Amino acid sequence: MSKVFFKSVDNIGPQQTQIDQIKELFPKISPVKKGDIVAVKIHPGEYGNTTHIRPVIVRTVVDLIKEAGGIPFVTDTTVLYKGMRLNAVDLLWTAEVNGFTQASMNAPIIVADGLLGDDSVKVEIRGEVLDSITVASAIAKADCMIMISHCKGHPGSGFGGAIKNLGMGCLDKAGKTRVHEVGRPTIDTEKCIGCGVCFDQCVWGALKMDGDKVYGDKVYGDKVGSDKAYVDHDLCKGELSCLESCPQEAIIPPEDVAEKMQVRLGEAAVGPIKALSGRIGYINWIFDLTPGCDCFNFSAPVFSRDVGIVASCDPVALDMASIDLINRKMHEDGNCGGVHDVWGIDPVIHLEYAEKVGAGNRKYELVE
Ligand code: SF4
Repeated sequence: MSKVFFKSVDNIGPQQTQIDQIKELFPKISPVKKGDIVAVKIHPGEYGNTTHIRPVIVRTVVDLIKEAGGIPFVTDTTVLYKGMRLNAVDLLWTAEVNGFTQASMNAPIIVADGLLGDDSVKVEIRGEVLDSITVASAIAKADCMIMISHCKGHPGSGFGGAIKNLGMGCLDKAGKTRVHEVGRPTIDTEKCIGCGVCFDQCVWGALKMDGDKVYGDKVYGDKVGSDKAYVDHDLCKGELSCLESCPQEAIIPPEDVAEKMQVRLGEAAVGPIKALSGRIGYINWIFDLTPGCDCFNFSAPVFSRDVGIVASCDPVALDMASIDLINRKMHEDGNCGGVHDVWGIDPVIHLEYAEKVGAGNRKYELVE
């Protein structure tokens, strides 16, 4: 059974700030030794997102690492979908807009998977589905890591916390594709009107017009009613951001995609853990519980009140405790259901598979 340390939002005030809470939690979970190069893994938020982890929290952790004799750098990886984090240049720009700079962090910001998201180290997993995964090299080659995750809902896994940050956020583009590839959609040709709106959403050019000669010339959309879109599965990464772009709801994800993706997400989470020989401390920030993740370029109203901060050396226990604490808060408020009901997805699936490959233990002791 793993220990999960909890600082409640109910205790926050002038005598106990969030900064004080982080300072109390850090020594309980820190793997940092003098001289260690320490990755501080965050998600700085997409451009337009306003509920990502706050820079002051990350800066506090950076200062604590320095006090412990470590050499910190703040890091994240590039993504698979259209937005302002597709490559390292855009990601650094977005991080800066959202408040994460070398000056504000007092540490360099390094994009862990390189300029185009292909700088990685292959790590054996031996899961039921994945035999290996590619971990972003600046994370894999660090001496140890502190991971700070903002808890929130997620349309793919139901919940995003530490396991999501490991099994997706620490991978390069090829690794992310291995997790997402079960999501390659098809087109409902009865609904598709061939408008071409979806083509602009896919940065991989995987959405094309049936019998397409027109896509390459970018003159799609001029044959409404005569052509249908199709998905080129050789190009598609399966990340499914195209679904929302279709005004006809004609892009159809595979059956049980959330479950299948969660299996891979859970298994992939052990990749960074193995790369760092388990030398990772985890902090979950359970505030601003939006339904969508910080990859969204907006922040929708929250589905639950704030809960507080939890920390652990076990990411599975940490996420399990985070979900339980959120559910408890929702039930206290008569907000029936729980995290499961936010997207109609059971988020515990990815924790189960993370546990199966040795990423941690769902049983925990909450230490308040
Ligand atoms: S799938 Fe949707 S967005 Fe794409 S061409 Fe067909 S109707 Fe338009």
